[in-house]
Amino acid sequence: MQLFYSPKEYWQNDQSVEIHGQEAKHITKVLRHNIGDTIFVADGNGAQFKGEIVETRKEFVRLNLTQGERVQPAKIRKVLALGTIKKRDRLEFAIEKAVELDASEICLFDADHSERSRLNEDRLQTLIISAFKQSNRAFMPSLTILGSLDEVYKNYKGYTFLMAHERTPTTERPKALQADNNVLLVGPEGGFSQREIELQTNCEQGAFVSLGSHRLRAETAVAAFLSHYTFSAED
Ligand code: SAH
Repeated sequence: MQLFYSPKEYWQNDQSVEIHGQEAKHITKVLRHNIGDTIFVADGNGAQFKGEIVETRKEFVRLNLTQGERVQPAKIRKVLALGTIKKRDRLEFAIEKAVELDASEICLFDADHSERSRLNEDRLQTLIISAFKQSNRAFMPSLTILGSLDEVYKNYKGYTFLMAHERTPTTERPKALQADNNVLLVGPEGGFSQREIELQTNCEQGAFVSLGSHRLRAETAVAAFLSHYTFSAED
């Protein structure tokens, strides 16, 4: 059964929900669903419901919710903070894997070695929604864009920072997360600068992590890093 997405502002206390825009068109025009049909809908914030179509308009479809639940978020938060990658398809691959591998939040920052390229935020948001629906998750990671690694430390003050760095001794493998709030840092194609490595060294709650003895592409490092934590106890 296909999952559809509707942001929380269109939900009326888990009794009924409107699905707008492209999603609505997809339901009525492409899949040709009609009144009386049952579909699944999520709000990206823990709600996963079955609903019956009771109204189809040009701009929206309304459902009466028949069955479902609102799941609680996992206790442990994992922010995936990635230095922006120049090649768009590689950046989008990294973001898609971050959604599939349970990043609680995705933060893109302009690292010292990032080659400046304008990010199309709407396009990235659409990518996150489709990865969220495809992987049938209850929670959809938000997207935050920051101007430097320095801003990442400020924005996530109090979090534990784990920096994946290819020159870390391979004995420093990712361990089970101790803290509730964590930022997993991955550098851009050109890696972290000496300055950024110093920032991480001076960060009071931080550690360097090795993802093995081979040099991974940034987007591979995102998948490798997150998958260490994805299948942890609370999943
Ligand atoms: N700076 C390297 C490659 C950077 S790879 C070079 O000389 O080209 C991009 C990012 O992936 C790195 O900043 C790091 O965060 C991560 N990464 C790649 N291989 C890794 C490894 N073996 N261990 C830990 N992190 C790694």
